Amino acid sequence: MQERLRPLIAGNWKMHGTGAALEQIARLKTLLQEAGDIESEVLICPPATLLDRAARRAQSSAIRIGGQDCHADPGGAHTGDISASMLLDAGASHVILGHSERRADHGETSDIVRDKTKAALAAGLIPIICVGETEAERLAGTANQVVGEQIDLSLPDAFGETPIIIAYEPVWAIGTGRTPTTDDIAHMHAHMRNLLVARFGTAGESALLLYGGSVKPSNAEEILRTPEVNGALVGGASLLADDFFSIIVAA
Ligand code: PGA
Repeated sequence: MQERLRPLIAGNWKMHGTGAALEQIARLKTLLQEAGDIESEVLICPPATLLDRAARRAQSSAIRIGGQDCHADPGGAHTGDISASMLLDAGASHVILGHSERRADHGETSDIVRDKTKAALAAGLIPIICVGETEAERLAGTANQVVGEQIDLSLPDAFGETPIIIAYEPVWAIGTGRTPTTDDIAHMHAHMRNLLVARFGTAGESALLLYGGSVKPSNAEEILRTPEVNGALVGGASLLADDFFSIIVAA
């Protein structure tokens, strides 16, 4: 039986939030302080414009701050892009990479995601690499194969001392209120675990496998109790501190 890994509950604010949203970080900080010991690691990934202020608001709390993307190059002529070391400098410890919205909106292939992952590791950030099938792929029975290929190609061969974190996010479950059955989640996570152990050995055994896609306070406990689920990547329900806190304590 797998030793219980410390769960990670990560909030992905996507393109939501201006300065006023920082109040949610202040509120979450209060809720966490009042709660005392929380087993989970807590991460919020706000838009890049809020990173620095969010990191300052989160100071002296257990909340860590992450970016939502980075460029594969360490610097250079890439108007509008952000490098991994800039995220680190702004106070980020993690970065989400290969989210399906980036894969769809920006044509990010798994090769690009792998290059970004290498850049994040080189800068000292912890990448959270997202994978997941579309609804058509699930219906066609190819979900395992699609996710397996994404894992194969999106991950570099070495993570050094950095933990491997993968978020399984079925595209059809993101922002839709629909989720796979816990059996389906368990099967996919077991599949991912096998692939990671085969390729990375003990680092694969201790990889954190997050589930993402319509996680909310009402389903968090059931999802987070599912075998091989080591945390969640939460979109909509991370925007309000009280909702996000309910998910954190469910882990
Ligand atoms: P959701 O988004 O929780 O709003 O479905 C999850 C994600 O895209 O990371």
